[in-house]
Amino acid sequence: MLPALFIGHGSPMNALEDNKFTQTWKALALSLPKPGSILVISAHWETHGTFISTNSNPQTIHDFGGFPPELHNYHYLAPGNTEIATRIADKLEINTDLKMGLDHGAWSVLCQMYPDADIPVFQLSQDITKTPQEHFDFGQKLQHLREEGVLILGSGNIVHNLGAMNWENPNQPYSWACEFNNIIVDNIQKREFENVIQFEKYGSISKNSVPSPEHFYPLLYVLGTAKPDDMIKIFNNELIMGSLSMTGVKIG
Ligand code: ZN
Repeated sequence: MLPALFIGHGSPMNALEDNKFTQTWKALALSLPKPGSILVISAHWETHGTFISTNSNPQTIHDFGGFPPELHNYHYLAPGNTEIATRIADKLEINTDLKMGLDHGAWSVLCQMYPDADIPVFQLSQDITKTPQEHFDFGQKLQHLREEGVLILGSGNIVHNLGAMNWENPNQPYSWACEFNNIIVDNIQKREFENVIQFEKYGSISKNSVPSPEHFYPLLYVLGTAKPDDMIKIFNNELIMGSLSMTGVKIG
């Protein structure tokens, strides 16, 4: 039985950097049984309707701008898994996408966790028409994959407000960011997931921390895969640049 992971991915430069966050990702990967394949729910693949990527040879998508050439030239060449992805699509009655590659929410984390790129990776999109509850419910449908050698990895950030990033005082998080991050972490640890699903009810701290929900929603999929007896571990629980939390969650 594999765990499910939510990773706070932060800057795409984490793909190349050796820092305390990427070191935790590496150590985490080494502590797990080797997955047969990896299903990523990334902040960076939003669609109308739910899609799963069935590309057997997914390209590395550089879906960002303004970073050094080393990052734009980096390729993470893990194979896909057409067979399992197609089987999941049939079972869950969702769409397949034969062309989708790996977005940076997937590869910037995986290249640190599994640098050999020898584990097949495929992605599940976020249907932007779904409610938070529906994203969580869909995560529940993925729970059985953990028993079938599939590592479920949500990649986003609990607090993600790029517009508010504090370049002058990067080590001084905003009070609203701390408060929101703490509330979410606390409710995850208490297994009160309904309070995470209803994150919008926290008012202005929620609006500031989650100005758009795409980086938050991957967390709901991961929480959806939890079983009652799963251990819950929080890691990299830190805010950077004032308004970006690197917090990660291990379920199981
Ligand atoms: Zn991102």
